[in-house]
Amino acid sequence: MKPKYYSALAFGAFLMSQTALAQTQFNEVQYTPNSTVFKLNAPTKPLLRIYNAGKGGKVEKKMKMKKTANNVWETTVSGDLKGKFYTFDIGKGETPGVFAKAVGINGQRGAVIDMQTTNPKGWENDSRLTLKSPADLIIYEMHHRDFSIDASSELVNKGKFLALTEPKAIQHLKSLGINAVHILPSYDYASVDETNTSTPQYNWGYDPLNYNVPEGSYATNAALPSQRILEFKQMVQALHKAGIRVILDVVYNHTFDIAGSNFERTYPKAYYRYTADGKPSNGSGCGNETASEHPLMRQFMLESMKYWVNEYHIDGFRVDLMGVHDIETMNLIRKEISAIDPNVFIYGEGWSAGSCAYPTEKLALKANVKQMPGIAAFSDELRDALRGPFSDDKQAAFLGGIAGFEESIKAGITGMIAHPQVDYTKVNYAKEPWATQPTQMISYVSCHDDMCLVDRIKASIPEATYDTEAIIRLNLLAQTAVFTSQGIPFMLSGEEMLRDKKGVHNSFNSPDEINHLDWNNLNVYPQVFAYYKGLINIRKQHPAFRLGNADLVRKHLEFLPVQDCVVAFKLKNHAGGDKWNNIYVILNGNRDLRTINLPQGKYTIVANNGEANEAGLGEMEGGEVMIDGQNALILHD
Ligand code: CA
Repeated sequence: MKPKYYSALAFGAFLMSQTALAQTQFNEVQYTPNSTVFKLNAPTKPLLRIYNAGKGGKVEKKMKMKKTANNVWETTVSGDLKGKFYTFDIGKGETPGVFAKAVGINGQRGAVIDMQTTNPKGWENDSRLTLKSPADLIIYEMHHRDFSIDASSELVNKGKFLALTEPKAIQHLKSLGINAVHILPSYDYASVDETNTSTPQYNWGYDPLNYNVPEGSYATNAALPSQRILEFKQMVQALHKAGIRVILDVVYNHTFDIAGSNFERTYPKAYYRYTADGKPSNGSGCGNETASEHPLMRQFMLESMKYWVNEYHIDGFRVDLMGVHDIETMNLIRKEISAIDPNVFIYGEGWSAGSCAYPTEKLALKANVKQMPGIAAFSDELRDALRGPFSDDKQAAFLGGIAGFEESIKAGITGMIAHPQVDYTKVNYAKEPWATQPTQMISYVSCHDDMCLVDRIKASIPEATYDTEAIIRLNLLAQTAVFTSQGIPFMLSGEEMLRDKKGVHNSFNSPDEINHLDWNNLNVYPQVFAYYKGLINIRKQHPAFRLGNADLVRKHLEFLPVQDCVVAFKLKNHAGGDKWNNIYVILNGNRDLRTINLPQGKYTIVANNGEANEAGLGEMEGGEVMIDGQNALILHD
């Protein structure tokens, strides 16, 4: 049977012609006070327009560009163009090009600026934080507007990058103990009108416009092109000073549309995948999918990520629908980013949202993570074994006291590696371990997608609709699995203050009253924040939870025999050089207490019944030990 994806011979030649170009698409504008050089990789002659304004107003100058190489066009404009705006036009509509580094309001025109002037004071001393092992990361996924927009946040720069420079925000994150913020798309996206930010508008930002410019609506002045760049850097600088990394959510797998995209308006067809009948393939579920295996797109992704690392000091990337991209590109990115700084961490969604016009075995899917050393993927096995499947909000799992998910949770606890005590035939999705190292698995129970934890617990577990104490117990139980996993723990912002989204599953454009964090909850449910903080501290103080190596996990992590809907494990013999000899973690998803047999002796309790404290909560004897329903117990001998 003829596969539905193929590259015709003519298309192969077309790709060859692009390979030489791929290296030069990133310097579309070279500014000096005397003159500015404009350059574009395009198949036909572009027209360059210069404007005084970022939006509206008359064209100040029109210039034909000259061919300097095959499909390379160039022109030099004399004089100081700083503060001017520009577009290219090959007859497909005006575009700031594919690699604008500064844009006018709403991103329709490129801006000529002097990048030297966009650095905050002391930027030369800012550097990425080092990372002994990715296992040490504790990732906090957040949206700028969710985090700061509500009055209760008491933050001044509501919905802005600068909120994360404010002492109260920094203090909250530091006190919680996270060491990396993963910010939802923060490059220039299309759906929020930057000219009208006084009217509340909300979007997650998975509709990319200009990949290499910060989003204007998150800046205090979107009309001033250098402002968003400066403020983004101020955010990075403030977080770095606090010991917190900045991870960027990057969405290279699709664009807002094809016809209006900068890719298509610059070099038609070069950046997208098409099916055999010539229609745009839709592996992203958003109407189009990019073609990372094509030279221009591959090089674009690579240079874009390197640019964020070099210019903005970004510490990591979360690659949206990584399963749309090809393995070879992801490995190339890993290699070249490591050459700049091996501390930069890369992870992604190991799936696509539809079928891609590229062979499955070549895609950066979860099942192929073993072929991508140094790259991690989210574990929906652990997530759904705890709370139930993505496809049905009402269906519960382990947290609902339902047996049969123990093996999936165990797999997640190991970091989705091969472990002699995990029977992968009983794991929910993966029928074999997909990670070579535990640091290739992101451990989580909720993220911006679908319901937050509180809503999910309410939707799927009857007593949670009227019993807040049950919600809290189950929330803390779920996160105990996440934070004691050998994978890399990841949490959605606001779970530590018992956020809810009023039951909305897909809140990508829901109003603030759905998406905002209510900071008052910190006072209403102080025990929730205290538990998260205590639990994170236990992980940070104890290398046993962060072994970072599959052989060490197999050597030191032992599962204990248990009853249904209980998972228990031991991290034994000073795992990872831990000062504690043997650590026991027991997770009980049942509504009632269960018992477990531990060796005789004295134990110190560090987490139990909604409290977590590394220094100890009390002592107990071994033997037959009771664990309350919907509870996590952590002890050491
Ligand atoms: Ca925008």
